[in-house]
Amino acid sequence: MQLNPQVMAFDSFQQHCTRCKKGKPCGKMHVYVMELKPEVYKNQKFRDVNPNYKKGMPCVYVGKTSHHPKCRQSQHNNCKVGNWNGKKWTCYCGKKTEKINECKLSTRTSSKVGKYMTGYLLNTLYKKTNPQIDSESNQAAEGKLAIELRNQGFAVWAGHLNQSSS
Ligand SMILES: [Zn+2]
Ligand SMILES: [Zn+2]
Repeated sequence: MQLNPQVMAFDSFQQHCTRCKKGKPCGKMHVYVMELKPEVYKNQKFRDVNPNYKKGMPCVYVGKTSHHPKCRQSQHNNCKVGNWNGKKWTCYCGKKTEKINECKLSTRTSSKVGKYMTGYLLNTLYKKTNPQIDSESNQAAEGKLAIELRNQGFAVWAGHLNQSSS
């Protein structure tokens, strides 16, 4: 069996998805949760969408991606709003032909909460939800997870759920 050394070098795919295997992403769609700095709660729009926040619980960002969560993490960490031009992100899952890719408008991080992202994925909150087979179920899973976490007391910004109300 011929193994791609670049893929093998990255071996924690299985920590984010029930179908991704060690060194072998499933190729399907995923949702993810990224930690936000507590300062985000000072933002009025963020507070408005989280009326049931329990003080002391984490503030998080819930997103969806056609890549693996680690690819999207690389986009969030490298393609910052206002500073993405000329920067690069890494695709670990093989969906892009090239492993290293130029940041674009479409790959930059959330304009609303990007500056509050710590860069850490909270995989235990979403592993059991992954993967999804198409963009419709991917978007539905994102919204459902955001609402579940809010019901547990998390303060949540969900990329596509909150974009329309911003
Ligand atoms: Zn997967
Ligand atoms: Zn990827």
